[in-house]
Amino acid sequence: MLPRLLCTSLIVGGLAVAGGCSKSEPSKAELDSASAPIKASAVIEKKPGVEKAPQSGVDYHSFANSNDYQVQHLDLDLTVDFSRKVLEGEAKLDFKRLNDKNLPMVLDTRELEVVSVSANGAPVKFSMGEKDSHLGTPLNIELPEDADSITIRYRTAPGASGVQWLEPQQTAGKKHPFLFTQAQAIHARSFIPLQDSPKVRITYNATVRTPKELRAVMSANNDPQAAKDGVYEFEMPQRIPSYLIALAVGDLKFKPMGERTGVYAEPSMLESAAAEFADTESMLEVTEKAYGPYHWDRYDLLILPPSFPFGGMENPRLSFITPTVIAGDKSLVALIAHELAHSWSGNLVTNASWRDLWLNEGFTTYLTNRIMQFVYGDERYQMEMALGYDDLQADLADKEPRDEIMAIDLRGRDPDEVFSNIPYEKGSLFLYELEQKVGREAFDRFLMEYFNHFSFQSITTEDFVKYLDKTLLVEHADKLDRERILEWIFDPGIPEGAPHPKSDAFTKLDPVRQQWLDGKLAAKDIDTKGWTFHQWKYFLDGMPEKLTEAQLKELDGAFGLTESRNNEVAFSWLMIAVRNDYEPAFERLENFLTSIGRNKFLRPLYRNMVETGKKDVAARIFERAKVGYHPLTVKVNSLVIYGKKES
Ligand SMILES: [Zn+2]
Repeated sequence: MLPRLLCTSLIVGGLAVAGGCSKSEPSKAELDSASAPIKASAVIEKKPGVEKAPQSGVDYHSFANSNDYQVQHLDLDLTVDFSRKVLEGEAKLDFKRLNDKNLPMVLDTRELEVVSVSANGAPVKFSMGEKDSHLGTPLNIELPEDADSITIRYRTAPGASGVQWLEPQQTAGKKHPFLFTQAQAIHARSFIPLQDSPKVRITYNATVRTPKELRAVMSANNDPQAAKDGVYEFEMPQRIPSYLIALAVGDLKFKPMGERTGVYAEPSMLESAAAEFADTESMLEVTEKAYGPYHWDRYDLLILPPSFPFGGMENPRLSFITPTVIAGDKSLVALIAHELAHSWSGNLVTNASWRDLWLNEGFTTYLTNRIMQFVYGDERYQMEMALGYDDLQADLADKEPRDEIMAIDLRGRDPDEVFSNIPYEKGSLFLYELEQKVGREAFDRFLMEYFNHFSFQSITTEDFVKYLDKTLLVEHADKLDRERILEWIFDPGIPEGAPHPKSDAFTKLDPVRQQWLDGKLAAKDIDTKGWTFHQWKYFLDGMPEKLTEAQLKELDGAFGLTESRNNEVAFSWLMIAVRNDYEPAFERLENFLTSIGRNKFLRPLYRNMVETGKKDVAARIFERAKVGYHPLTVKVNSLVIYGKKES
């Protein structure tokens, strides 16, 4: 996902060892990979109260006993009830037994009301276990010895963490309600009872029943020609992890952009979205050429209402996209490259647990930059890389050492709350260093083979290192240092001598900014003709902590920053306005915070307000805005503003 996005964006939580989670024992394969000759993190081992590093391949964020049973296929039949804000129906899970113990099957749920459970057609006993604040509630099911499928009748809670119900006034068209799901990281369990772990891959079929005037789409084979009769059928024939199951329902229209690409959006946004993202087909073609075949048939985009908490979500065949990147000049389409790249890194080769998220996001961020270069050229590539590097530096300055580790220890913590740029930008910088050392051609070949080798598999950090041991580290033994690679993955910070991507388009702005700060150049005399949003962002983000009222007025007067229609530029400016108490921008700040739900923007702004003594203002705006926010946005920003979760 991307918060960028974060794909997603976030952080907190006390350190504890796998609390409250009734896990089955790790399998032999997991223990083998845990005991592989790979450096354990010295930092984790030295932490008081934590006895050992997390075990590779163990999912500390799922109750499911996926080492006893492995679900293979899901048949979903759901009715969408907008008046009650409930999804209601049944999930049939076909599973394979991995041993003959016939233990109760444990599934993940969160706030689900389970009505009945049957196995191969006959009712069976079930019970709900103890609720965990991060993980939800285990559903324990007693199985007859010959059972190979179970059917669960259930309904979701109106406040389900993975489902957002929007009132008509929260949509672009204002006439119809809208619904979308967001399952990553551990929210699929709030709308489907299942083994909610990225190491379990399933195929699915779904029937979704909606009000007749609306259209349903899923991360599956969407048919834009399907009659709008209130019943939609879907099939996802490729095996995907549960966090990629996604559904949206609304007043949606479709417009093709290319042979395999198109866009779904509310009617009023359809044309502008299709124009903004017109290069999607070219992106798809260049990525295939460099990294191997696209395995998912079509690649369509779904444009969501502004409350979507992330930049985008890489739901297979149908990425979910925030409308905040429709800038009118394609300046923010790196987000599309990012979600598309996930079709290889993430959806095809998937992190086995959330500790391994960097395998999804680091590879995807690296690929994003390369796609931007293929399609838009070197200057854009350098700028994207340099901005990513700056984001990484900002996070490194801000995080505790344990959260700077790519293979992060998330035991006892909620993955949503630990979200940061580290798996994205540090992961990408690491791959960029490998590329620099072995040469681009060799590295591209390696990536293509890696995606092919692990296609449709979920892998751990240790699987990746073992693969490196057999490939790049053999082929380029003279150029690579294994210890240094382990330092990148298992230690905080970045290794000494790491690459520092720069862009001439940015560095030439440094003296301009300095001259203005020194009073030697008036803002109105700065030649900003042809500046891209990237340059505006760089120019603004490089401003000192404090500016005078006169300086703020001069900048705003010369460039109309408070009124900027580019959300990234507006965000950078509002961050400056907040920390300098620049009141003329506060009305825009309030509008921005109440009309956009993207956490990449909201969280830093709220945090900045709290840290600069404006907690009351932050709380007032948040309380007014939160009815329009996604449950995740409410959760993480409550933490920022009040230091605790909403009850
Ligand atoms: Zn992502």
